[in-house]
Amino acid sequence: MDITQMRDKILKQDRRALARAITLVESGREDHRAQASALLESLRGAGKQALRVGLSGTPGVGKSTFIESFGMMLTAKGLRVAVLAVDPSSARSGGSILGDKTRMEQLSRDPNAFIRPSPSQSHLGGVARRTREAVALCEAAGFDVILIETVGVGQSETVVAEMSDLFMLLLAPAGGDELQGVKRGIMEMADIILVNKADGDLKAAAMRTCADYSGALRLLRKRPQDPEGFPKAMTVSALEENGLATAWNEMTALVEWRRETGHWDARRAAQARFWFEEEVRQGLLAKLRQSPAREAMAALAIEVENGETTPSRAAQRMLDEHLSS
Ligand code: GDP
Repeated sequence: MDITQMRDKILKQDRRALARAITLVESGREDHRAQASALLESLRGAGKQALRVGLSGTPGVGKSTFIESFGMMLTAKGLRVAVLAVDPSSARSGGSILGDKTRMEQLSRDPNAFIRPSPSQSHLGGVARRTREAVALCEAAGFDVILIETVGVGQSETVVAEMSDLFMLLLAPAGGDELQGVKRGIMEMADIILVNKADGDLKAAAMRTCADYSGALRLLRKRPQDPEGFPKAMTVSALEENGLATAWNEMTALVEWRRETGHWDARRAAQARFWFEEEVRQGLLAKLRQSPAREAMAALAIEVENGETTPSRAAQRMLDEHLSS
């Protein structure tokens, strides 16, 4: 399939073409990279904007269960849902936590859903680019909602938040009264905190945890992209499918407000800029790791170690001689 064919098929919502295109963007081969880049350029601005929803939560909080029931609720409304994952641990463990085939069994059989596990790539930068490009492909393929899931290790929340229109944090009820060690930075990224497992014996604990987080959210600095009442914490039960419709209503209300006030477009523009700058940074680093820059760097490092030149002079020489072209 050539790039034009692939493009046309993706725009016609052909799932096989979409899957092949994602495989293409995941490939590390240089010729594939060039094709992927051409494909993405040809799809730029095509199709409509999907709602990109980032979802983070540690293993066991119920992400798969939530995506399964939330996704099924959306497809029942006639929406087309894509699920992608950012899982930087997959390379290390050999098998992806988020790629487990038994997850989201019903949703994976739903013709209006498309689930793509995380690729096994060694570094977050690679996973980030691949996911961002897969998001663009799903958007071109006409999906209404794209869920981007992450287990939240290392910097993966930041990566996901930087490619999402909405960022959701899924938590489980806490036993004690502490805020489960959720880092402030992650709280600050969240638009909606969902305390899951608000059912049975856990219901009371879930309500308490939710109240704690509501309080903590009120203490955060007010962000310009939030209407009154946001960010907010709510309880859900993915298992009993409770609170999911309410969560969706809150999400759409927030999105509508951001669209009307220009925050939606501003966020997408800022994200495009962020990823451009990130790609430049990554490109420069890659160049430094290759010959002849690598050897020059090693040689200059020795000169610096021996006191034959200063660190800043050596760095300047490196930049002038190897990164200027
Ligand atoms: P993930 O690791 O975040 O994807 O979590 P899973 O979706 O695999 O769920 C982990 C465990 O929590 C499983 O045993 C689920 O059945 C359970 N679980 C998920 N959602 C709920 C819920 O809403 N209520 C209860 N009681 N258990 C849940």
